[in-house]
Amino acid sequence: MSTLNTSSAFPEPTIVPRAEHGISRAQISPNALKVLYRLKDGGFAAYLVGGGVRDLLLGREPKDFDIATDARPEEVRSLFRNCRLIGRRFRLAHVRFGNEIIEVATFRAPHDGAEDEGAGELSEEGRILRDNVYGTFEQDAWRRDFTINALYYNIRDFSVVDHTGAMADIAEGRMRLIGDPQVRYREDPVRMLRAVRFAAKLGFRIEPASEAPIFELAELLFDIAPARLFDEVLKLLHGGVALETFEQLRRYGLFRALFPLTEQALAQEEQSYPMTFIARALENTDSRIAEGKPVTPAFLFAVLLWEPVRLRTAELMAEGMAEIPALQIAAAEVTSEQLRHVAIPKRFSLPMREIWALQPRFAQRRGKRVARLLAHPRFRAAYDFMCLRAEVGEGDPELCTWWTQLQETDAAGQQELLQQQATAEPARKRRRRRPRKRARKPGPDA
Ligand code: ATP
Ligand code: MG
Repeated sequence: MSTLNTSSAFPEPTIVPRAEHGISRAQISPNALKVLYRLKDGGFAAYLVGGGVRDLLLGREPKDFDIATDARPEEVRSLFRNCRLIGRRFRLAHVRFGNEIIEVATFRAPHDGAEDEGAGELSEEGRILRDNVYGTFEQDAWRRDFTINALYYNIRDFSVVDHTGAMADIAEGRMRLIGDPQVRYREDPVRMLRAVRFAAKLGFRIEPASEAPIFELAELLFDIAPARLFDEVLKLLHGGVALETFEQLRRYGLFRALFPLTEQALAQEEQSYPMTFIARALENTDSRIAEGKPVTPAFLFAVLLWEPVRLRTAELMAEGMAEIPALQIAAAEVTSEQLRHVAIPKRFSLPMREIWALQPRFAQRRGKRVARLLAHPRFRAAYDFMCLRAEVGEGDPELCTWWTQLQETDAAGQQELLQQQATAEPARKRRRRRPRKRARKPGPDA
């Protein structure tokens, strides 16, 4: 099957000279240029590769600059003081310049069974466990995922080297997996997510042979380490086209492998407000990213998992549990199930759960509770979340209006709103509250 894997069988690459492509050094990060020149002057091959070249050819601003070289990681390290070697599965050199990290990868060989000294490793299903077999320039090109990601900008003569017919694919807006798609997706199922991510972001279409296997192989993602999937999910949601990406992920059956409980909930009630809820949140994310505003993963995860949490809460309440404990239990259950698939770090999962836990508290608009909620560190996110729910018809739209006014008005206005609330609240409700302890005093068990 490894038709492309014997080094002698590679077709000649096409060299696109400087005069025939649009990439100029002025568009490349000065730090990436420094690394390229230093490698070249050290006698090594040095190329810009991957997203950097692809995006520059498409007239887009690259997210980062990756470099490929024939220097071994240790050799790269000896050239730069500001360099660290990282990664076990895929060993890389990171050259750091302040906030910017330039990734330098040594040319890799494909996996064709003849692994040397355990540097490369395949699982029984053909999945790449380790990818540290060094290889030639040609081999490095052919082991990459999509042709459009396998273009090299040569710092020696500023040409672009095209081994795989990528220039034609770029011109046609086409994503094509290098080699046999079945084999390549099995080697690394994350490539299916990458296919969707790049297609959505670049507005490219995935050519049929690369597209067809995804539907059938999507569930291979269940075997991928949850920590790696977390990184991928962030890239999928923070790429500026989260809504389109989400829709495509669902269409290919990939979303189910990332958020199984959410998919289950959505499949039950297609075209209903949970769908609109997610869509609105993703649209907001996309416009915030377009405006250069920060976005928080905690909020997005809270949105994506809300429907399973809400359904489970309702179930528990139907069994007689009160809202607050039901919500708490549902949140814990849904989170722990989700973590088996996508490892959400605590710094995001804790605020996510706070956003949920605060939801019932917006209905309590009397006395000190209001000030306490306003002062809560997660108030803003929880408020946005509540308004989003109200916007799609879940819960009381008046709540969003009231809390919005409360934040926009001055102290006198706030008093007035609180006063209205105190008198507007039905007497029946007030009576029910009275027997409860007003303020929790620090007792022996506090
Ligand atoms: P961006 O940085 O814009 O997300 P990119 O294409 O640069 O896109 P990276 O994840 O930075 O993506 O990877 C750099 C390059 O490494 C890719 O362009 C591709 O050539 C190669 N690569 C990355 N992940 C894989 C993979 N799973 N399988 C094969 N090649 C890969
Ligand atoms: Mg990159």
